[in-house]
Amino acid sequence: MEDPPANNFLQTIISADLASGRVSTVVTRFPPEPNGYLHIGHAKSISVNFGLALANNGRCNLRFDDTNPEKESQAFIEAIEADVRWLGYEWDGEVRFASSYFQQLYDWAVYLVEHGDAYVCDLTADEAREYRGTLTAPGRNSPNRERTVAENLDLLERMKAGEFDEGAKVLRAKIDMASPNMNMRDPILYRIRKVAHHQTGDAWVIYPTYDFAHGQEDAIEGITHSICTLEFEDHRPLYDWFLDHLPVPARPRQYEFGRLNPSYTVTSKRKLKQLVDQGVVSGWDDPRMPTVSGMRRRGYTPAAIRRFCDMIGTTRSDGVVDVAMLEFAIRDDLNENATRGMCVLNPLKVVLTDYPVDRVETLSAAGHPNRDDLGERALPFTREIYIDADDFREEANKKYKRLVLGKRVRLRNAYVIEADEVVKNDNGEILAIHAHTIPGTLGEDPADGIKPKGVIHWVSAAQGRTAEVRLYERLFSHEAPDKGDNAFMDHINPASLTIIKQAWIEPALADAQPEQHFQFEREGYFVADRYDHSAAKPVFNRTIGLRDTWTDG
Ligand code: ATP
Ligand code: MG
Repeated sequence: MEDPPANNFLQTIISADLASGRVSTVVTRFPPEPNGYLHIGHAKSISVNFGLALANNGRCNLRFDDTNPEKESQAFIEAIEADVRWLGYEWDGEVRFASSYFQQLYDWAVYLVEHGDAYVCDLTADEAREYRGTLTAPGRNSPNRERTVAENLDLLERMKAGEFDEGAKVLRAKIDMASPNMNMRDPILYRIRKVAHHQTGDAWVIYPTYDFAHGQEDAIEGITHSICTLEFEDHRPLYDWFLDHLPVPARPRQYEFGRLNPSYTVTSKRKLKQLVDQGVVSGWDDPRMPTVSGMRRRGYTPAAIRRFCDMIGTTRSDGVVDVAMLEFAIRDDLNENATRGMCVLNPLKVVLTDYPVDRVETLSAAGHPNRDDLGERALPFTREIYIDADDFREEANKKYKRLVLGKRVRLRNAYVIEADEVVKNDNGEILAIHAHTIPGTLGEDPADGIKPKGVIHWVSAAQGRTAEVRLYERLFSHEAPDKGDNAFMDHINPASLTIIKQAWIEPALADAQPEQHFQFEREGYFVADRYDHSAAKPVFNRTIGLRDTWTDG
């Protein structure tokens, strides 16, 4: 895989740690909560964690951070595993679960109680909020803060046994209610939640908080560099406090980097869910979604997503990244690797009146201009063909390098033709063009020296096939749709999907495998739909146009 980028401060830290001997093997982890689908931001985190492990001959664990059973599910677990693999990464050993450490975490909670570092608190949620103080005012000690060790041990045991209702008691660390860092004001370690867990069933009715679980899990797994996003910076003193006060087997360290926020994109799980729930998109894997499964269905490639994550580097600022960089990476990859084909999106029939009615000439075209390994494709040529309606004008000035009445154009991979006549209906709508071929122009210029200026694409009407083509654009028409609370719903691009039911494709394209990538010449990059495409009913999704039409204007 690719080298780590230079603009990666985490690599600098790791190199120093390896050089000083603080660590001998780099161990990282990607810790998703299985409560939703992965999105482009997670792809960044995956590329950082797995990428650093790979670059330093280390290991990276996949650990499900499953401490909140209500919103989590086995289905999300499986989808996340598939997405990580699709992105091209393999975790070290078995998948890990925070829930498999529940007993150890509980034993450590008991340890804190025994050492006078944790207590059971009876304050209601509202009272606790009031006692907590504010950013400018210190908090107040809970009335239960001075409970004896014996009393706390008894109450904790009974919390675990299910004797108390949800919300009746919590276990809190005994740190400092006057700390300027709110996270240090006696944070909660355990809550009562009488819900079944997707991994542990009914074994537990108390569940650890993220803060109490995360660092200890890192210690259990021997994580050397626990990499997370900047919003956890203020939690780091607490992360360290637990490790300092517990007999953990290792001493991981937390490092934070800036979240990836691409422009024209929303990445909050809550907002993505709203798009799905309100039917703005067809599902989590709608090709307009910034989810990994959506990008996959759109035709984005793992290599291009990884390259984008490398290009933007890893920094300690939370800036917005231009989504055009992602689109650039996709185009660049597909330009190198996608097989070429011809597809007419807006068909206009051209009858080549000099060409015999029953003749089928099998021409051939390169699968790719400079990739011999992508082979040749058979391209049948017949008397009736389709061209794109935008590629014909009855009259035009010299800038228009396509087919004009009385003028010539080259059909891509085939002959030069000349337009003779326009056939219209009573309403003046164009039904067809009559034209003729210029003999001897297959791969040659016309003998009379009258060279056409332009090249257009075409498909045989008799031998081509129809296909459904889904033209996708960005889902949002505003650069920063995520600003503000629900403003994003007002910035939906009304033209983010146009479905063409009857485009014409060259016959070879019907044989595409689902998820096979193509450049449709002069149109853009397309992918055979992962679910809906078949030889009997071809369906293609537009991944991205050939050029950046948003910045090119
Ligand atoms: P959301 O805020 O969308 O609910 P999350 O951060 O709660 O996402 P997790 O499943 O907890 O989702 O995230 C797993 C890992 O991915 C965490 O380490 C988190 O920091 C990281 N991550 C999530 N979103 C981004 C992002 N936009 N950029 C970089 N890393 C991210
Ligand atoms: Mg999270």
